[in-house]
Amino acid sequence: MRVVFGAGSLRQLREEAELLGLRRLLVLSTPDQRALAEQAATRLGDACAGMFTEARMHVPVQVAEAARAAARGAGADGCLAIGGGSTVGLGKAIALTTGLPVISVPTTYAGSEMTPVWGLTENGRKRTGRNRAVLPRSVVYDPELTVGLPVDMSVTSGFNAVAHAVEALYAPDASPIISAMAEEAVRSLGTALPAIAADPLDIEARADALRGAWLCGACLGATTMSLHHKLCHILGGTFDLPHAATHTVLLPYVAAFNLPAAPAAQQSLSRALATDDVPKHLARVSAELGAPRSLAELGLVEGDFDETVAQATAQPYANPRPVTAEALRLLLTDALTGALAP
Ligand code: NAD
Repeated sequence: MRVVFGAGSLRQLREEAELLGLRRLLVLSTPDQRALAEQAATRLGDACAGMFTEARMHVPVQVAEAARAAARGAGADGCLAIGGGSTVGLGKAIALTTGLPVISVPTTYAGSEMTPVWGLTENGRKRTGRNRAVLPRSVVYDPELTVGLPVDMSVTSGFNAVAHAVEALYAPDASPIISAMAEEAVRSLGTALPAIAADPLDIEARADALRGAWLCGACLGATTMSLHHKLCHILGGTFDLPHAATHTVLLPYVAAFNLPAAPAAQQSLSRALATDDVPKHLARVSAELGAPRSLAELGLVEGDFDETVAQATAQPYANPRPVTAEALRLLLTDALTGALAP
């Protein structure tokens, strides 16, 4: 894909569309980011064929259908997805069935713009898959667009990105290049997030975080994720826990479980975060930056464990340590109460 990176790069939107030969783009956003979508539409000028501003978390199939109809109705030859993972996900859902190319302008650190992974939710179940057709053709990273991302969302979104890098480091299909990218990504976000919490307008820190998110997304797109992503998928899909916050709370507990069996990943993360105790460090920093500390805070109750464990052990998948029901219960109990949080 093409990538444009830098403060003010939204100004190059029309040029990107022209480079891809796109003349009729449907601009996608959430209702919250309609004003930003209008700004993007203005930049596109007559290359904007219309707007669809109803993107929702986890791409409900009804929303995907409505967006596809809007694209058909507007005679769109592509989509411009401006926003977080939910909006990028909607662009992917359109691409999946229509083949329409997507330009993505990410405004969070979720990383979806770098992956061929799509997701669709129907009757409370999220299905995901991989298809190269959904990978955006061009990504425009403009740190200025992330300056307004509230600190709490910046922190949890940043930890969502870090989780991609952590699992890429011990992925069954990891490679030395991906591992180098993952380590650098964690280093970037590890310094950028506290700086953003101290001053959300710090454009250098915003650029570092977005560069880290780019790397994390590329790691996610290149490798197979393990226990952490599996659990977050279940907790989000079945119990409606908030996506980025769930990643943030759970990551230290999965790290505590997996890293002893993944020494190279452990060393890499220790170097990147300058700590001897990666799980404790992750729990402490996220708490200090104001993120939720426990799954209980996010609404999970012990009664939800059975279903979580059943789903997480239903099918085998690669993980540094065998995932047994007993081990999972202990992990979930610790995360429920926030045992590692200061
Ligand atoms: P999101 O896209 O749902 O955004 C949350 C809210 O924040 C929305 O209302 C959005 O409009 C608003 N927002 C976004 N950027 C903002 C900004 N800069 N300033 C102010 N408000 C802003 O949240 P997310 O965490 O980015 O995405 C989560 C979704 O992405 C989940 O459905 C997740 O499964 C998916 N995801 C997919 C992949 C993949 O590879 N397929 C990767 C990561 C996440």
